[in-house]
Amino acid sequence: MRVIESWQEMQELALGWKRDGLKIGFVPTMGALHDGHLALLREGRSLCDRLVLSIYVNPKQFGPNEDLSKYPRTKDIDFKSAEGCNVDVIFYPSDKTIYPDGYQTSVEVTDVTKGLCGEKRPGHFKGVATVVLKLFNIVGPDVATFGEKDFQQLVVIKTMVRDLNLPIKIVGVPTIREADGLATSSRNRYLSKEERQAALSISKSLNVAKELVTSGERDTKKIITAVTKAIESARLPKIDYVKICDTETLLEITKIDGPARLLIAAFLGKTRLIDNCQL
Ligand code: AMP
Repeated sequence: MRVIESWQEMQELALGWKRDGLKIGFVPTMGALHDGHLALLREGRSLCDRLVLSIYVNPKQFGPNEDLSKYPRTKDIDFKSAEGCNVDVIFYPSDKTIYPDGYQTSVEVTDVTKGLCGEKRPGHFKGVATVVLKLFNIVGPDVATFGEKDFQQLVVIKTMVRDLNLPIKIVGVPTIREADGLATSSRNRYLSKEERQAALSISKSLNVAKELVTSGERDTKKIITAVTKAIESARLPKIDYVKICDTETLLEITKIDGPARLLIAAFLGKTRLIDNCQL
């Protein structure tokens, strides 16, 4: 496994692979690798000849009052985990490599970023789309894996790839969960014991919604009320949003009569967690 910090070196290596007819798989992350990331790496590994993992905590996707400075950085453990997943190259750029002096270009995907986390975290998806396009240009992947855990992000990336004619297949990977159901996240480590316990109400509320839909409920207002009640029964979580949206447009819907997604964001203390499921 090689670790590459220079974008030129990464790009040259990838161009060489392409000339040799090798298929490149790519998994962009912010590090602090957990089982969710490893699932993306395993899926990626099965789809390509050369697998690249990037680890870069992208400042442009954090708001001024968000957790950029305390975001977990676990380089040595991450490198070991990557090796265990047969990663060929870790692309590990610095801030100066990604945003050198004079940097001024950004990418904005407009409609699908209007609601949900896009509304609550202004500028977040502009930062995400910008860095992911830059990484795509450096790594030149044929296929890239993204987690359904960040469902809106997955839709944003798919939309960008479609709109900008990028020759990259985007593969969504189902959310990996802890044994008790909590969606695995780098931010779970911020939770106190009480918050960790209370956070379970979020994943449990997904099941409440699924059961309602299975028993025939189609009115999203009623489902959202039940989900809200289930989350708030744990007292500690403060709901940021509970929405049911069309799976492709991410527009809110009032009735479930096609592919629909329940999306939740809630605060446990200062920690903001998200989760979602298909309905
Ligand atoms: P991050 O490092 O948090 O920016 O995430 C990097 C990638 O890992 C993104 O595509 C996320 O959607 C994905 N990811 C994070 N958590 C999970 C999870 N629990 N299950 C599946 N994928 C995940």
